[in-house]
Amino acid sequence: MKPSESHTAAASFTLQGAGVSGGIAIGHAHLVSTARLEVAHYEIDAAQIDEETARFGKAIAHVEAELAALVANLPAGAPLEMKAILSLHVMLLKDSALSVAPRELIRNRRCNAEWALTQQLDYLVSQFEEMEDPYLRERKQDVVQVVERVLAAMLGTGHAPPEPAHEEDVIVVAHDLSPADMILFKQHRYAGFVTDLGGVTSHTAILARSLALPAIVGLHHARGMIREGETLIVDGREGVLIVNPGERVLAEYRERARKLETEREKLKRLRSSRSATLDGVTVELQANIELPQDVKEAAEAGAMGIGLFRSEFLFLNRDDLPSEDEQFEAYRKVADAMHGRPVTIRTLDLGADKSINGAERSGPNPALGLRAIRFCLAEPQMFLTQLRAILRASRHGKIRLLIPMLAHAHEIEQTLAAVRQAREMLDDQKTPYDRHIQIGGMIEIPAAALSLPYFLKKLDFLSIGTNDLIQYTLAIDRTDDTVAHLYDPLHPAVLQLIAQTIRGAKKAKTPVAVCGEMAGDAAMTRLLLGFGLREFSMQPAQLLAIKHEVLRTRIKDAERGAARVTREHDPTKARALLAKLNA
Ligand code: PEP
Ligand code: MG
Repeated sequence: MKPSESHTAAASFTLQGAGVSGGIAIGHAHLVSTARLEVAHYEIDAAQIDEETARFGKAIAHVEAELAALVANLPAGAPLEMKAILSLHVMLLKDSALSVAPRELIRNRRCNAEWALTQQLDYLVSQFEEMEDPYLRERKQDVVQVVERVLAAMLGTGHAPPEPAHEEDVIVVAHDLSPADMILFKQHRYAGFVTDLGGVTSHTAILARSLALPAIVGLHHARGMIREGETLIVDGREGVLIVNPGERVLAEYRERARKLETEREKLKRLRSSRSATLDGVTVELQANIELPQDVKEAAEAGAMGIGLFRSEFLFLNRDDLPSEDEQFEAYRKVADAMHGRPVTIRTLDLGADKSINGAERSGPNPALGLRAIRFCLAEPQMFLTQLRAILRASRHGKIRLLIPMLAHAHEIEQTLAAVRQAREMLDDQKTPYDRHIQIGGMIEIPAAALSLPYFLKKLDFLSIGTNDLIQYTLAIDRTDDTVAHLYDPLHPAVLQLIAQTIRGAKKAKTPVAVCGEMAGDAAMTRLLLGFGLREFSMQPAQLLAIKHEVLRTRIKDAERGAARVTREHDPTKARALLAKLNA
């Protein structure tokens, strides 16, 4: 079907998923393939077939040369696996399933080359997903990567219809989107997005929140049921997607969207008010960012600092690694923009759902694999480069170093030794840095929460990553929508780990924050205040709603209510007690 065909008479239907970020968007569907680039779908004339297959062949040849150049120019500090994986990509590219089959689709179905390639990709992905061998199943990601390269090579060379003129009117519909895809969306102004897969605390969902876009994940079959250009309503709070709504429904949702906008405008008045409870207790509200340019939104929301800079996003969507100088500039830019307020830079949390191009392999079970500090300690050159860059930037503001996914004492020791080594290197070069830089650890593995004394002894501050703490406590993959219903922040085991970490840190007079999504969920604010938390870090778009909660809380009431919720083991009753606490 051509995008221009009309669907005005199409039937209306509703799909339910998990709402990941607030607000309501009304717009037109724009279907995006599994690959990172948005792919145009259009038919070609019989006379254009040869031209189209030649265009496809040219793109394949271009990528072959590109991969060969990448192998030849791998940087010295690059992970060892990169070369092997790039060679695998060359092999995949030459396989007839990628280099020949799409030509047949172009000829037989008269579809444009991009469309042919993504149809073939969808087919290959489904074949890989059926494989029993987890290693082979994972190679799906490699195929996707290769296809993305070919799509990129074809960009701007076809007869594609123009992109929708008004992005503000576009709702992106995808089977799945990676965090790397989402970061590219920061360059656009889409109205919202919906996906078939994904959990509410996946990095994809977190990025949707950072874009302040209404979004729904876990819709299962939306991508297959929706056609290009159809009218959609995305209710990001309720997780409801309405396709082809009638006039009455549209009017109703326009009214609801308008009311939400008014509420958001009202919240803006809190921007410069002091963040303190009714009984005068100051609560530090900081922002989470992914890229240096996000500091603008953090400052606009009145953030008192950056509680989490997810530095790995500087490494995505590129074929090389950012150099020490490039990283230094990025970190310095954030420090400068925050004018002496704390900037907490988390060292690389690569692995699991975030990989550098060419190193997608993260083991049979990525969330439990060579991720975050484990990956950094296995790649010391890459880690040292980042540490030097952060240290160099540290004299331009109040920079703090935060280490993700620590579990073992020896990981803490090795990390501190790496920091010492980076400092010595800078000392040798007579390069200045903040000699009092604080080093903190994330508490996001139950083992860390349960061996707190060692963390308290060795580290200057702690930050609780509830997204992973919940994932690892409950053995729920946070990116998997099929187990999303079991991902429960109110599980008594989770609450105990959080409460006891805050208590332990406070007793030791070690600063402690929460920087997972719980910190930006207004329904959790009083509970966390009741546990004794005084530092929250969240997406800038959530900050004023949390301040609103802080302003109407009395600490004594929060403490009493939080104790009741934690004592309750029945989840339904715990929810009722939380609702009472929040009333
Ligand atoms: C967390 O796990 O809660 C966290 C803040 O880190 P990330 O979401 O980047 O894994
Ligand atoms: Mg984490």
